[in-house]
Amino acid sequence: MAEGLRIAVIGAGIVGTSCAFFLQRDGHRVTLVDPREPGTGTSFGNAGIISLGSLAPVLTPALLRKVPGLLRDPTSPLAIRWRYLPRLVPWLLRMVANARPGRVDALARAIAALIARADAAHDTVIQECGLGGLVRTGGWLKVAREKRTLLEAIATDRIYWERFGRRYVILERAELRELEPALAPDLEAGVLLPENRAVRDPCAYVQGIARAFFERGGTFLRARADGFAFAGNRIVTLATTAGKLPVDAVVLAAGAFSKRLAALGGVRPPLDTERGYHVMLPHPPATLSRPVYSFDHGFILAPMEGGIRITGGVELASPWAKPDYRRIRRLVPLAQRLLPGLSGEILSEWLGFRPTLPDSLPAIGPSPRTPNLFFAFGHQHIGLTLGPLTGRLIADLVAGRDPGLDLSPYSPARFL
Ligand SMILES: Cc1cc2nc3c(=O)[nH]c(=O)nc-3n(C[C@H](O)[C@H](O)[C@H](O)COP(=O)(O)OP(=O)(O)OC[C@H]3O[C@@H](n4cnc5c(N)ncnc54)[C@H](O)[C@@H]3O)c2cc1C
Repeated sequence: MAEGLRIAVIGAGIVGTSCAFFLQRDGHRVTLVDPREPGTGTSFGNAGIISLGSLAPVLTPALLRKVPGLLRDPTSPLAIRWRYLPRLVPWLLRMVANARPGRVDALARAIAALIARADAAHDTVIQECGLGGLVRTGGWLKVAREKRTLLEAIATDRIYWERFGRRYVILERAELRELEPALAPDLEAGVLLPENRAVRDPCAYVQGIARAFFERGGTFLRARADGFAFAGNRIVTLATTAGKLPVDAVVLAAGAFSKRLAALGGVRPPLDTERGYHVMLPHPPATLSRPVYSFDHGFILAPMEGGIRITGGVELASPWAKPDYRRIRRLVPLAQRLLPGLSGEILSEWLGFRPTLPDSLPAIGPSPRTPNLFFAFGHQHIGLTLGPLTGRLIADLVAGRDPGLDLSPYSPARFL
């Protein structure tokens, strides 16, 4: 396609805002469309980890074996609202079908190909948008009370870390004390993923990218995208709650809410959501200097600008179902044991919607039925990590440039 196109990007999360930023860099006239402020959807409340070690798909054979036990345990990181099960069954069955050993390897290879390029795309936005102050280095630490638990928990990840060249260091008790002295002394082992960086405020990070986009002349339309008008198989107008927008191309980056508009573009992606909660607590006097994951309880303690963020777990339920904060609140005393000095005062609570496709791969590319509609959604647990790279790849596709990797695993054509 020629340069200087009128492009509407639907959704101002980390993915859509990054798409708007990279498309504008190519000289396009971009309008970012969202009824909410940039960065206030799921991209607001994540754990902030640029997670270069998350190579395995969401469901692995090892995790599948644990699912019945996890569903029975009220403190486990997995919950399901049984009323939603009938709607979820087709998605779940496809998820399970993707958890075969050979298939999991192929999916991990496709995830690893994206992750290998994720850091460079973050570097571009960090440098060009002046976001260095929001990013901490020092890796991501995962800990366990017993070394045996840790070794068992990392068995699958470790295979992929080694296969795809990601660094990890196993730490003993004394090394853990030295690295994170504020943690409880009873931890026997940890694994540090030293390449990982973490964002101190994921919403501010998205808003920093959006600010740079606006300063360079990008437009924000505070509206919900509702539908498309076509000429032949191409979209010519985007209908929104604030009126019609003439367009040459549309990027659909509405996260977990992309399904309806994708269907209007001729393809029904099997998209569902893994809901996830957080609570914020004040920093203790001695706090963490990097995110810490507990293998014993399946939650993350992420040191953020405004306190310690406890995130963890997946709730399978309708995106429209009311939040149920009981399970995340139950983690507070466990977090206090992990980080002595942490008060139990909850500053805020939050629910977000991970957009997850059953093969754990995002949809990145043109709709096979509507060539000027580009899909950019389905980033499951690693949307912060892959958001800027997705923006870069969408800009390459729109420009007809070589993206530098085979994009066929992520193609929306797989949903036909
Ligand atoms: C608890 C938790 C912890 C996580 N931790 C991490 C982590 O540490 N690292 C990591 O990489 N990822 C993490 N993730 C995943 C990550 O947050 C998501 O993958 C990512 O935020 C998805 O970004 P997005 O831009 O696709 O969606 P969103 O941020 O949800 O943005 C979508 C936007 O689309 C808008 N929208 C919806 N419908 C329409 C419409 N019709 N018209 C216009 N706009 C519309 C919404 O208002 C929203 O602003 C975590 C997720 C959760 C829930």
